[in-house]
Parts: sequence; structure tokens; C-alpha cells
Amino acid sequence: MSTHPFSELPLPEALLKNLEQIGYREMTPIQQKSLPLAMAGKDLIAKAKTGSGKTAAFAISMLLGIEQRFFGCQGLVLCPTRELATQVANEIRKLARYQQNIKVVTLCGGQPIGPQIGSLAHGAHIVVGTPGRIQDHLRKQTLTIDQVKTVVLDEADRMLDMGFIDPIEHILGHTPSDRQTLLYSATYPKQIRALSQKFQSEPEEVTVESVH
Ligand code: ADP
Ligand code: MG
Repeated sequence: MSTHPFSELPLPEALLKNLEQIGYREMTPIQQKSLPLAMAGKDLIAKAKTGSGKTAAFAISMLLGIEQRFFGCQGLVLCPTRELATQVANEIRKLARYQQNIKVVTLCGGQPIGPQIGSLAHGAHIVVGTPGRIQDHLRKQTLTIDQVKTVVLDEADRMLDMGFIDPIEHILGHTPSDRQTLLYSATYPKQIRALSQKFQSEPEEVTVESVH
């Protein structure tokens, strides 16, 4: 099988060094297929199994687009559960180590909202959370997402199974219409197609059947 080191992509030296330090040398198949498209600003529908490295597949591209001096939310990741949101936020923080000051805030339900409001008050470049709680923050106007460049719907099929369609639509409605929308899902039921048609523009489809 051919190998694909991250260094075949036009990535900053400091990022490549960080990837090496955290032990990522070769891209996983989903990263190899989707990172170049994400970096080119395309919308994506990506299908890959758990454990295939989806987080880095979107996070590396998202991090490249962050304007550090602006402490407004520029990247937004919606996840089905607090556990997944926490994992994704930690993975993004790890990947972001090559930059000085990227702030990643996690906003999930089942957690007190006061400290979340407190950390948002200091600004956040990237927000990762569950749809219900993010919607709560939009209603309270404690979170502004009108400068978001990239929205990720992670495990979209699970989010729909959990009944998050309304908050997802509400949230997307508050983001700029020219945003990039990356949709990750293990399965493609009708509702996912409908969501894609409503909120994505000319999405590229990427499928990785197995992880080697
Ligand atoms: P998924 O979201 O597809 O379930 P994750 O993004 O959580 O997968 O990644 C699964 C595991 O693989 C994590 O432990 C992550 O650190 C690791 N990983 C991701 N990309 C690479 C890579 N290119 N090389 C080595 N390990 C990787
Ligand atoms: Mg994942």
C-alpha cells in the first residue's frame, strides 16, 4: 500500500513538526482523501468508520483558517455527546500546539452554563459542543457565530438519531451562508441527504470503507 506522509501537503513547517511530535507521520485514508478537499474550501460529505482519524481530517484544515488575533468563533464542531465533544476538543488542542494561542471551548449540556459563559466572555477561536447547549448560548446571546468559517457536523447520523435536527438547523441558520460545511456520518439515511441538500453547496463525497 502506498504511503502518504503529511509532508506531501502544503502545511506550515511548525505544523508538520507538531504532527511528528504527536506521532502522526502517515495520513490515514480519510485524511488523505479529505484533507486536500477541506483545505481547498470544499464542502464535504465524508463517510468513514470510527477510529479512522476523522478529527484530524477536519481539524488540520480548520486550524489553518483561524485568524489568531481575532478572538471570535471561526470554527464550530457539533457532536452528539459530551464524551465525543471532549475527545474532539482535546484532539484539536493537541493539533493546535504549533500555534501560540488557539482557544478551544467546549459547550455541552449536563454541565453548568455559568462557567461556559465565563470562558466565552474571554473569546474563543473554536467551539466544540452538543447542539442543544450551543443553541442555548445563541438564545442567551452568550455566543456569536456570525464569523464562523467552517462548521463540522461530526457523527451527523447519531445527532439526528438523538433528535438534534432542530437545534442543528437553528445553529446553521446563525452562521454565514458562505461558510464551509463538513458533514461526517457513518450512514446515509434520507434525513442526512436532506440536511446536506439544505445546508451544503456542491459537496464532494468521500468514502473510506475500511481502515488499514
Ligand atoms: P474518528 O473520529 O474517525 O473515530 P479520531 O479522530 O478520534 O477517529 O482518531 C482515532 C485515533 O487515531 C486517535 O487516537 C488519534 O489520535 C489517532 N490518529 C488520527 N490520525 C492519525 C495519524 N495520521 N497517525 C496516527 N494516529 C492518528
Ligand atoms: Mg470522531
